[in-house]
Amino acid sequence: MRACDVLVIGLGPAGSSAAAAAARAGCSVLAVERKKVVGLPVQCAEFIPLPLSSYAGAEVRAQPIAGMATILPSGARAERAFGGLMIRRDRFDQALARTAEAAGAGLWTDAALRAVDTDARCVRVSTAGGLREVRYGALVAADGPLSQAAACMGLARLPVVTTRQYTVPLLKVQRDTDIWLSARYPGGYAWLFPKGGVANLGLGLDPALEDDMKAPLDELHATLAREGRVGTEVLLRTGGPIPVGGLRERIVVGRALFAGDAAGLTHPITGAGIAPAVTSGERAGVAAARAAGGDDAALAEYEHELREEFGPALERALAARRRMAGIWNTEHAMDDAAHRAGWIAFPEYCS
Ligand SMILES: Cc1cc2nc3c(=O)[nH]c(=O)nc-3n(C[C@H](O)[C@H](O)[C@H](O)COP(=O)(O)OP(=O)(O)OC[C@H]3O[C@@H](n4cnc5c(N)ncnc54)[C@H](O)[C@@H]3O)c2cc1C
Repeated sequence: MRACDVLVIGLGPAGSSAAAAAARAGCSVLAVERKKVVGLPVQCAEFIPLPLSSYAGAEVRAQPIAGMATILPSGARAERAFGGLMIRRDRFDQALARTAEAAGAGLWTDAALRAVDTDARCVRVSTAGGLREVRYGALVAADGPLSQAAACMGLARLPVVTTRQYTVPLLKVQRDTDIWLSARYPGGYAWLFPKGGVANLGLGLDPALEDDMKAPLDELHATLAREGRVGTEVLLRTGGPIPVGGLRERIVVGRALFAGDAAGLTHPITGAGIAPAVTSGERAGVAAARAAGGDDAALAEYEHELREEFGPALERALAARRRMAGIWNTEHAMDDAAHRAGWIAFPEYCS
């Protein structure tokens, strides 16, 4: 039996940020991660917005991004400034975990949460050495889109889109990301994110189409290869679920605080979730530290602050998803106008 003030589940950006913040607040912190190596395998297009670049040291940075080009169903191309960074996501996650460790958090890798007893404030974690029990004062559930912590607490699964991505050679230097909107990508979109000499080329679709993702991605890859933009090889394959249903009904359950994807903070239109994972993780760590010290007001404050900060943008994105859901199987699915109202790059999205 091990005991700690704050227990963190998951060492993605949300979990490491929470562990660091709680440790800095003077708590004993344990973070458990089911992967053997933090950050691997990478399941990401690896773009972060400019405000997050202070979290990315030199070893993490892959290339700057200046803008976003959106290609509409008609082939019309709209460009806008959209600054950010392409990162080496494994190194990004590992750097955040090292920061948590340096702040005093204990990290267990190859350690998967199996059960949660919220009344006893105790979890069971399977490790290479067998099943371990850990008692906690407060728990941060930062275990991603399919949160096992939520499942253990009997909470609903979050709605997701499913993604598939290839890393391919990039034959021409590119400073902008490309986004394709089309009836070929129901419930989502296709992307090319340039990363030096390679590019992350992928698509996200309604999960009902999970078994049909290879053909549209191969088709896009072949088209870009014919145009001489990318090589024909596939250097890496990845994918994974992205929450698109907005915030969980409750972000705080007892003394468990949800953060990042596990809280449903990923943007329901773009799928971007690294920045809100870091922000919510930091806040969850501070709030968990206060709660573990007996200050229960911190729990309600965390829920309130997160809803205030992220709620409006998530609600706007959900409204756009609902609008788009009504057109995917109609003739409007190839209308530029419909897609302009459903994508963040266009003024129609906000109106
Ligand atoms: C293909 C793809 C491309 C994406 N591209 C981008 C992008 O370019 N930019 C962007 O901002 N966002 C992107 N996202 C979303 C982004 O990756 C997530 O929003 C972000 O990782 C959320 O961070 P997190 O810490 O909440 O969760 P995660 O990064 O998912 O971390 C959760 C951690 O918990 C661990 N875990 C899970 N279950 C357990 C368990 N039972 N016990 C212990 N540990 C457990 C996992 O192994 C994982 O390490 C993309 C997602 C996908 C799938």
